[in-house]
Amino acid sequence: MTSSTAHDRLTAHAGELRAIRHDLHQYPELAFEEKRTSEIVARELDRLGFQVTQGLGGTGVVGTLSSGHGRKSIGLRADMDALPINETTGLAYASKTAGKMHACGHDGHTTVLLGAARYLAETRNFDGTVHLIFQPAEENIGGAQRMIEDGLFKRFPCDAVFAFHNWPGMPLGQFAVRPGTIMAAVDTPIVIISGPGGHGALPHKSADPIVAAAAVVTALQTIVARNVDPTEPAVVTVGTFNAGTACNVIPESAKLEISVRSCSPPVRKLLAERIQAIVKGVAEAHGCRAAIDYEMGYPATINTADETAFARAVAAELQGDHPIIDLPAPTMISEDFAYMLEARPGCYFMLGNGDGPERKMLHTPDYDFNDDLLVIAAGQFSRMAEGFLAKA
Ligand SMILES: [Zn+2]
Ligand SMILES: [Zn+2]
Repeated sequence: MTSSTAHDRLTAHAGELRAIRHDLHQYPELAFEEKRTSEIVARELDRLGFQVTQGLGGTGVVGTLSSGHGRKSIGLRADMDALPINETTGLAYASKTAGKMHACGHDGHTTVLLGAARYLAETRNFDGTVHLIFQPAEENIGGAQRMIEDGLFKRFPCDAVFAFHNWPGMPLGQFAVRPGTIMAAVDTPIVIISGPGGHGALPHKSADPIVAAAAVVTALQTIVARNVDPTEPAVVTVGTFNAGTACNVIPESAKLEISVRSCSPPVRKLLAERIQAIVKGVAEAHGCRAAIDYEMGYPATINTADETAFARAVAAELQGDHPIIDLPAPTMISEDFAYMLEARPGCYFMLGNGDGPERKMLHTPDYDFNDDLLVIAAGQFSRMAEGFLAKA
């Protein structure tokens, strides 16, 4: 099967894929609530002849299809969850649930994988096993980690795993990737600085948590500037600073919420150590106490070299002259697929969602997945499965 016949075959199903995507779009479900979505996925996989496992990591689904006697296996992953956003697109197939919306295009990712499922089931032009992984809760709550804890790679061993994200602002279908870190780790320390507080007219009788917290915010800026290797990406953003109730009252506490991002485990560790030392030390220097709840979020998404070269080669075969973007640096947003890449070799890449003015950014109320990307992305997944599990 060549890339052009794969494309032709998938194009013949473009209308059906669009219909599936529009249906999923109308009924968005938040993290770990993807019951309807996972039922639709399971039913379609079953219809196509996949062995279907439901309920992995909550609402996760895995579809398995083997062909020939090959022992190799590949995992292809899509995410299914929506976001708590009120959709404003005005589209005929807009969300029917107020306050919930597929604003990250996971309706598209799910449909793409179902498109690949149909192609692979009908053609069976591979020798080995394909595991299609539909995960819950990519946004913030770590559905990938839950599936792994639930035995994902023990029950469904994968020699490599692959996933993509649609990317608004890049031309339709544009393939972008880099070996090594492609997305950042994100951690969220929450800091509470406490002091005795007191009357605003008598500062000498109190220790002021607001002044201490303000000094902490400033001192934290020295970590990236002075402690991190200047060639390593890192972010320390204090996103919230809450304290006080009246201008003449020195409050008893101040609360900071911080977003900490890094691209390698050593830098991640350094940031955690320095933040804790600075928060404690500066608070103490101001006569206050500090408590830190340092929540570790998603790790960095790190692509392995061979699998990245492989995914890139498939894109080059499919896209001909369409230039491939070799990303010079990671993006500092984070991605739950990172957990799967900690467990298995693999590659996470981006595909352009279109660059017209109508192509809004992810997580905005007027965003929509580009239907024209469905066939392109399903082709990429399908050809990766055929190439990874090539017949002798
Ligand atoms: Zn998102
Ligand atoms: Zn997303």
